[in-house]
Amino acid sequence: MDQYNLKKAKELIKLNNENICNCCLGRKFSNLKELENISGNRNRGKLINEKLSEKGYNYKKSSSCEICNDILFKVHENIANENILKKIIEKIDYLNLEFETFLIGSKIPNKILEKDEEINSILDLDVENIKKEINRKIGKLIEAKLNKTVDFENPDIVIMVDLRKILDKDKEENTEDLSKIKIRIQINPIFIEGKYKKLIRGIPQTKWPCRKCKGKGCDECDGTGKMYNESVEELISDIVLKETNGYEAKFHGAGREDIDVRMLGEGRPFVLEIKEPKFRKLDLDSIAKKVNEYSGGKTEYNNLKFTERSRKAEIKVSSPDTFKVYRALVECEAKISEEDLSKIKKLENSIIKQRTPQRVSHRRADKIREREVKELSTNLINSNTFEMIVKTQGGLYIKELISSDDSRTSPSISEILNTKSICKELDVIEVG
Ligand SMILES: [Zn+2]
Ligand SMILES: [Zn+2]
Repeated sequence: MDQYNLKKAKELIKLNNENICNCCLGRKFSNLKELENISGNRNRGKLINEKLSEKGYNYKKSSSCEICNDILFKVHENIANENILKKIIEKIDYLNLEFETFLIGSKIPNKILEKDEEINSILDLDVENIKKEINRKIGKLIEAKLNKTVDFENPDIVIMVDLRKILDKDKEENTEDLSKIKIRIQINPIFIEGKYKKLIRGIPQTKWPCRKCKGKGCDECDGTGKMYNESVEELISDIVLKETNGYEAKFHGAGREDIDVRMLGEGRPFVLEIKEPKFRKLDLDSIAKKVNEYSGGKTEYNNLKFTERSRKAEIKVSSPDTFKVYRALVECEAKISEEDLSKIKKLENSIIKQRTPQRVSHRRADKIREREVKELSTNLINSNTFEMIVKTQGGLYIKELISSDDSRTSPSISEILNTKSICKELDVIEVG
């Protein structure tokens, strides 16, 4: 150590009235090149003391460390006697938790943290703070004893070690008292991405709480708290929640279709989020099988794979390039001919102006959207019914494209055929 740093060490010691532990002394110089190869801050502290002694500076620590109140010593003790490990294992066993990666967080008294920062700013030091040192030490212990891996970015769980009770500055505490170490575990969610098909009409995409009781359960909903018995969401999440012993599931679809609309073709992308899963090593192929059996032909889920949190927002954003292909069964009041249908063909490549439909106006802002019809073909079924396959820019309301919604959508099928037309059946056959 050079003169400059030895002088600084002396300043640090005096600043704490000579009451500084070797852990804190060593930590404050832990980033010095010549101390890098020494293992542990306590040994660094010892070495600094030797160097100071050689220069004729000796001092005697007469009470507990003014920076950490000797907590680093207590923490080391609790790491060495495996008290902290015992408490963590106890909690993991209690939750019956499966994990591979983890991160340690800790809580220590604020006064200690503040004091530590204050010293850094007075002496212009830029070193690891006390909490990081504790987290790192406990992390190493768990890695070694439980054979798991620390992950700073995306850990399966976060283990919070609350040491405030054993480290209280004003009380002399018994470090053997295990009950004073509190452990809280935050279990991070898992995300499963896939595509679903809805093969029958009449089920919503997500769970729909009863309008009257808002989910509590009442006479109207037979105590279920729901408007519909089943949903695309529940038919998969019932099974996945059971397999993961998770707390809650959230279903995020790439858009949605109406309850009376089927979702066919390749299916619609979705992300299923499972909150607080106790088991996360899942065989998604076997889960898909179970889910598809359980849904009994009403819905189908394919291409399940684990994904990142960010996908849940990404799949919801519909860019202008997205398109949908629908099959609609259209019924007209007046009789129609092949010639009439040829007039509809002119909707191809035209822009539809669509004011927010009346049926959704209670929950959507009133505005006019412009969306393109890209391709369109028709097939006359009988004198007043035809089938239409239409490819449109995402976000075009097909039912209103047919009915005109009291002229709020223009041009429309009703307008072109000059007869009231309605959408009898609708299927989504492609989401692009
Ligand atoms: Zn200390
Ligand atoms: Zn109800």
